[in-house]
Amino acid sequence: MILVGLTGGIGSGKSTVSLLLEGKGAIIIDADAIVREVQLPGSPVLTELAAKFGSEVLAADGSLDRQAVANIVFTDPDALKALNAIVHPAVGKEMNRRMIEQRTTDRVVILDIPLLTENPREGLQGKIVVDVPIEVQVERLVNFRGFAEEDARARISRQATREQRLETADFVIDNSGDLESLTAQIDQLWTWLVSLPQLPADYEPITPTPNAGPKSPNKNT
Ligand code: ATP
Repeated sequence: MILVGLTGGIGSGKSTVSLLLEGKGAIIIDADAIVREVQLPGSPVLTELAAKFGSEVLAADGSLDRQAVANIVFTDPDALKALNAIVHPAVGKEMNRRMIEQRTTDRVVILDIPLLTENPREGLQGKIVVDVPIEVQVERLVNFRGFAEEDARARISRQATREQRLETADFVIDNSGDLESLTAQIDQLWTWLVSLPQLPADYEPITPTPNAGPKSPNKNT
């Protein structure tokens, strides 16, 4: 197995890059998708969240009301800590399970982790950063994802800066151009990925310590 992280700001193009890499043969482990999976109705995580935050975090159909949770944790750092303490271990465990499933293969495994810069993870062979100027990010979030401009800008400002992300990059994808330009870069990225050494078959994924990264993206500035 070759194991590399993929990150980028909100709407930078991580999912698009993941899809293109999947087309090349990569296995994608998508942290956001796993967060949703471990919170499905009937899951221990959802039961714990309801016990901690009350039934107001449950929608009428019994699923997690993500907006209700977001509203609670937005202004309450202790609630955010409690949320992370419930959700992160379950997500970490599932990500590790999927890595272990691949470790005896020769596949390229990509961990798609939106907040990899904010919450660094050891044991990766490299980090791919999808980079776009803020104006492109805002434009795509507004045009393709239905965000209000103000909301898009607010979310971007709460994440790590472009510079902070680029500092951690081993391979940068410039996604400011069209899909053709992106596809050409994926060819180069794939050449780099398959040139990396195979990890040993008994590779043990390192579970990140929750909140080990900078508390705020601007902590060091
Ligand atoms: P999130 O942070 O919300 O998970 P993301 O980083 O995965 O987002 P995508 O969903 O891949 O970003 O891309 C955001 C939007 O921009 C999507 O609608 C996608 O189709 C579009 N997009 C991505 N790359 C390009 C490009 N090079 N040209 C035009 N549109 C693009």
